[in-house]
Amino acid sequence: MTGDLFADFRDPAHARRLSAAITDVAREPITLMEVCGTHTMAIAKNGIRGLMPDTVKLLSGPGCPVCVTANADIDTAIEISRQPGVILTTFGDMMKVPGSYSSLAREKADGRDVRVVYSPLDSLALAEKEPDRHVVFLGVGFETTAPTIAITIREARRRSVTNWSVLSLHKTVPGALEALVNDPQVAISGFILPGHVSTVIGSGPYEFLAEQYHVPGVITGFEPLDVLQGIWMLASQLAEGRAEIEIAYTRAVMPQGNRVAIAAIEQVFTPIDAEWRGIGVIPGTGLAIREEFAYFDTRVRVPVTPPEPREIRGCQCGDVLRGAVLPYECRLFGRACTPEHPIGPCMVSSEGSCAAYYRYTDHGKV
Ligand code: SF4
Repeated sequence: MTGDLFADFRDPAHARRLSAAITDVAREPITLMEVCGTHTMAIAKNGIRGLMPDTVKLLSGPGCPVCVTANADIDTAIEISRQPGVILTTFGDMMKVPGSYSSLAREKADGRDVRVVYSPLDSLALAEKEPDRHVVFLGVGFETTAPTIAITIREARRRSVTNWSVLSLHKTVPGALEALVNDPQVAISGFILPGHVSTVIGSGPYEFLAEQYHVPGVITGFEPLDVLQGIWMLASQLAEGRAEIEIAYTRAVMPQGNRVAIAAIEQVFTPIDAEWRGIGVIPGTGLAIREEFAYFDTRVRVPVTPPEPREIRGCQCGDVLRGAVLPYECRLFGRACTPEHPIGPCMVSSEGSCAAYYRYTDHGKV
């Protein structure tokens, strides 16, 4: 088979028609938030803001797991990397993320054994190769990555690996959306809901947005026409006074989600309260490793006491993640803070809003 399978989802003529359709229905001002960092990148990369009428404002939300990881959690990971005999493994995105006093990249430069892996299974394989060391996997992500890590924990038990554990900093998305609709500083008319997370959880966990708050949501894919279609569906709901959770990304998302993935998460993890950068502690949005799998829980195997966390001076990542300010409204954007010299995680992560605005726009103004 040759050609680009997704070319139809990038057709410029169809994009212009959808843009006109959005203009047609969005007669009143509306503010839509894209929850997912991959959507933030797609919107910036494809110039979708430039296709919006003046009535449609697009905000970026907290859907970058690296960005919402709290300083205290990064400090904990750094402290673990400093323990004798530990190898800390992580996805590459976490390396440059600043904690209160350091970053994993700086710790590595200072001689700590911090290694980038491409999957938790790579980390597990490293533990089997290094039986005299304790290998920690830094588990950062949403419902999209949690099943893989749950399955790897089960695999570690099956293989009787005794020197491997996971520092689970996982978070679940729907509770964060409830915190945002209750935030008086951010008036969100509707949510462009995450495609990847929704392949796992389906549409059910978002229904409360429509039922309790009368805020609509559309689960959307990542090609330009996917995003435009999602915006048009949201604008149409708002124009008609409807609030429903709809699925535009039907080629990947089913209302019931992926039952096997959900079962893996539920078998290995249990909900706990989690701190989100910029939003604070949200009840029940973290995933702790269940007692049954405590042998693979870094908090049990390598307990540490990190230093008191502190905020990064001048960084407005928290406000950006809540949609209270746009990235270029941060005083440091493009001046003190650039991808080469990042001050906050939103400029570091490949899904960060500040990184997206910096890379693809005229300092975010389009
Ligand atoms: Fe944080 Fe830099 Fe973004 Fe400002 S520009 S919010 S300092 S990442």
